[in-house]
Amino acid sequence: MQATLPRLVPTVRRWAGWKLQVAKAAIGPHGVVRRRLGVAEPAFLKVDGTCPICGPGAHFVSEHSWLRDHFLCSRCGSIPRERALMATIQSFRPNWHQLTIHESSPGFRGVSPLLKRRAPGYSCSYFDETKPLGAMLSDLDARNENIEAMTFPDRSFDIFITQDVFEHLFDPERAIREISRVLRLNGILFMTVPLVNRAAPTSRRAERHGGEIVYLKEAQYHGDPISAKGALVVTDWGFDIDERLATASGMQARIVEIDDLERGIRAELNEVVVMENRSDWITG
Ligand SMILES: [Zn+2]
Repeated sequence: MQATLPRLVPTVRRWAGWKLQVAKAAIGPHGVVRRRLGVAEPAFLKVDGTCPICGPGAHFVSEHSWLRDHFLCSRCGSIPRERALMATIQSFRPNWHQLTIHESSPGFRGVSPLLKRRAPGYSCSYFDETKPLGAMLSDLDARNENIEAMTFPDRSFDIFITQDVFEHLFDPERAIREISRVLRLNGILFMTVPLVNRAAPTSRRAERHGGEIVYLKEAQYHGDPISAKGALVVTDWGFDIDERLATASGMQARIVEIDDLERGIRAELNEVVVMENRSDWITG
């Protein structure tokens, strides 16, 4: 469906905002302009290397000690978890650009635009409760899908991607079963999710009973690419996430940790969860 001009405005505004962020990084105190002039200011961390998203000749810089949100690639504007995700995809499925990929709630920089540009089989979805499921959200060039009850037929995709989505789901077990259903045999899920409970098992911050949200801990919100309100954090995940989601879905799960400064992959809470519909695992 052709997007109309008024519906395109929010998308253009988000794209322009991201481009502005990249431009600001270029002319900022550690940016390419000052580096060329030899007057760049000292940063908390800076290194030249190869960005898994935008390629060789990259410059990674952070002005802050909290690298997860601040260690940017000065060219593509990506953050470490996005580079860790792309490196993991490249490692497990180097032919990703030939595969059928679906991403739930993509971001507007980093991995999502790269996959959209380079993989003809890429599609994505957001969830708007006010609109019919399975319909196109033309202003976002995406389908309207509830990850806990998707309208796709079984075995539709080779790769499924979620970036910092699972901490916001009220029924993550149902969502992982749905992802397993829409993935083909040997299909694979790549998930970034903050494992904030570093030394404790997974715990809930909120539950939904009927239409009511019951808060077990103080309400906490993360930024949401399509909502100014932000997304409520429902689960504080721990390192038992692989076991919990494997038990719920029958998929094989593992947690990938990469620390590689040359690729700009260093940060707190930077794990990637990888889950596969393995034929030998399912029948074994
Ligand atoms: Zn980059």
